[in-house]
Amino acid sequence: MEQKPYRVLLYYMYVPINDPEEFTQEHKNLCQELELKGRIIIAGEGINGTVSGTVEQTDRYMETMKMDSRFTDMIFKIDEADKHAFPKLKVRYRNELVTLRLEDDVNPNELTGKHLTPQEFYESINDEDTVILDARNDYEYDLGHFRGAIRPDVQNFRDLPQWVRENKDLLEDKKIVTYCTGGIRCEKFSGWLLKEGFKDVSQLGGGIVTYGKDPEVQGELWDGQLYVFDERIGVPVNQKEHVVVGRDYFTGEPCERYVNCANPECNKKIICSEENEHKYLRSCSSECRTHPRNRYKAEHGLTEQEVEERLLIIAD
Ligand SMILES: [Zn+2]
Repeated sequence: MEQKPYRVLLYYMYVPINDPEEFTQEHKNLCQELELKGRIIIAGEGINGTVSGTVEQTDRYMETMKMDSRFTDMIFKIDEADKHAFPKLKVRYRNELVTLRLEDDVNPNELTGKHLTPQEFYESINDEDTVILDARNDYEYDLGHFRGAIRPDVQNFRDLPQWVRENKDLLEDKKIVTYCTGGIRCEKFSGWLLKEGFKDVSQLGGGIVTYGKDPEVQGELWDGQLYVFDERIGVPVNQKEHVVVGRDYFTGEPCERYVNCANPECNKKIICSEENEHKYLRSCSSECRTHPRNRYKAEHGLTEQEVEERLLIIAD
């Protein structure tokens, strides 16, 4: 198969960065020089990034990073792509790499769950004494997840600890295995679970992305698509079969297409077909459909009367 002209890189590393704000500026300059696009977070505890660029640009980026002794061991997950996956470059300094805002922070280099290889993870899915806990947000789970995994009812990662405390009975006295997109969220979250008193906690090393590329397991037991935070939105994981788990918000039919609610104050992510996007004015509720700033209405230049006609059709 011919190599595609672009790549999307996904990477992170928990490693002390002494002058993170200064490093952020330097790193931004480097990425601008290389003409990369994407989103990079830098904190005193390390770096977390996803960028797109040509094969040559991304090669140079990885080489440059590995020459820095702090990042020599960094693992870059590489997806081939036809074009950039981001509209622009954002390199930001933050207090933490993933927003968990724990009252008592966890350093994954000191405390974290056991890392499982894709093969070990595959075996744990089939183990009755193990619970597989999805450490991502509900809308990510809804597009695709591991078969039988628990879906925490959270829209933000920082709400996950509270959800665990409220749903302790699901996890108590079980072997817990967590997973997330590339592994970074689980580094901290699994450490927090241990701190919280859970005894047997593991995590999928390298996340879903690594699992899908593994030559042995080939993404088996993953259903649906992997939600990604770039213009692709969904990417395949399971190389052996594709079971659609996404459901149309309006009709419940199998669907893997995400749109944002046209009410800018709502912006909720909804899975729906193109047909239903138009039928329901890309809005999650009647309040959003009639919201004065509804974007769908503006984009399609609908008059009040046309909106009324559409609403009547839905009301039937
Ligand atoms: Zn809405």
